[in-house]
Amino acid sequence: MAKYFKQCTGQLSKACSIMGNADGDDKPFCLSYNEVEILNSPKRVIEVAIPVKMDNGELKVFTGYRVQHNDVRGPFKGGIRYHPKVNFDEINAMAFTMTVKCAVVDIPYGGAKGGITVDPKKLSQGELERLTRGYVRAVSDFIGPDKDIPAPDVYTNPQVMAWIMDEYSRIEGRNTPSAVTGKPLEVWGSQGRLSATAQGGFYVLEALLKELKLSKKNITVAVQGFGNAGMNFAEIAHRAKCKIVAVSDSRGGVYNPFGLDIKKVVKHKKTTGSVVDFAEAENITNEELLELPVTVLAPAALENAITKNNAGRVKASIILELANGPTTIEAGEKLYEKGVIVAPDVLANAGGVIVSYFEWVQNVRHFYWDKKKVNDRLKTQITKAFGEVWENAKYHNVNMRTSAYMIAIEKLGKALKIRGI
Ligand code: NAD
Repeated sequence: MAKYFKQCTGQLSKACSIMGNADGDDKPFCLSYNEVEILNSPKRVIEVAIPVKMDNGELKVFTGYRVQHNDVRGPFKGGIRYHPKVNFDEINAMAFTMTVKCAVVDIPYGGAKGGITVDPKKLSQGELERLTRGYVRAVSDFIGPDKDIPAPDVYTNPQVMAWIMDEYSRIEGRNTPSAVTGKPLEVWGSQGRLSATAQGGFYVLEALLKELKLSKKNITVAVQGFGNAGMNFAEIAHRAKCKIVAVSDSRGGVYNPFGLDIKKVVKHKKTTGSVVDFAEAENITNEELLELPVTVLAPAALENAITKNNAGRVKASIILELANGPTTIEAGEKLYEKGVIVAPDVLANAGGVIVSYFEWVQNVRHFYWDKKKVNDRLKTQITKAFGEVWENAKYHNVNMRTSAYMIAIEKLGKALKIRGI
């Protein structure tokens, strides 16, 4: 079994072993072996070849994936990633994580994930659009408002979502905005969706700091990744007077122990394409950023940033997983032993899918909410989920990730039992 997916199923087994998973076990919400088997395998795997006519007239064929993990609690839901390293294992694992995430924060969706193995930075806008439309045509039989609803992920953005919506609507012969979320506001996106992952992460951090009796003003924060999740998070935390001492992107990081002016860093990134060489800080590597003496480390780039090799050198007391899968299971165990609190991805970055759900509801109803309503509802939903994960972790003396998986398993198990296999 592939590595990243194995980590997810390992986490499932671990949570099950605490809850009890044997047939005949009298614990009320445990999973039977059959139910574990169902969650250990994706329901549908789609791999497609996407021919794209490039600007120079040549034809290139790209590989795309859509993995639909489980839909027992609602239609499949999950982002689409464009990255040169996209592979089946990664997409499969993240589809699994989406099933767990939607259950943890209690939204009526299952889990899916998609991706294309491509370096989008090397494509023109026209090539990117043709690639996106080709992908939609290839998977259109399997997606749709009540089947599977894609959203943005690494190197896909509202413009890409608009093309997905448009191509799907053409195939359907009617406007179908609820087929995809994360759209621009002009074409039925939701207020607050762009910053939702970061905003949700910030609400989780606030709730955690309250439990730990720490003040926002007295903490230092390092953020790895300066895109949708990381940059928005840095901006929100900076506005709330947290001291952001380091940020990074794929080219490297910058560090100022006295705090970065995030507005200026954003401007620098917009003009130069990177945070590197920001004048009021020293350049550091991504590896160095992970090991800085900070209160909060927020990985917001790719998976496997913190492994058993560097976990021992992590000095943060809190890890807020804005990225999916940034901490391996072994690293998580090491950090737990050291007393580091890891707010797991299935909770900490769930703001994105929660507001995607709100966008879908607004699309279905053709009735739109203001940003305050979106953020208020997001705060209520994610803070409630945090409270459940936190209390359950304390009760069972487990880390927050295991606690979150236990909560998800209970909801998934109930749905599987009631619906029948
Ligand atoms: P993005 O494309 O907007 O930004 C990615 C950022 O990571 C960029 O700044 C890029 O330069 C940086 N990066 C890439 N490789 C890197 C590396 N090796 N080291 C350091 N930085 C690197 O993507 P995003 O949407 O912000 O997604 C980031 C993470 O958040 C992913 O794990 C994604 O799955 C997760 N996530 C995103 C959303 C969402 O709504 N966008 C929701 C939930 C989770």
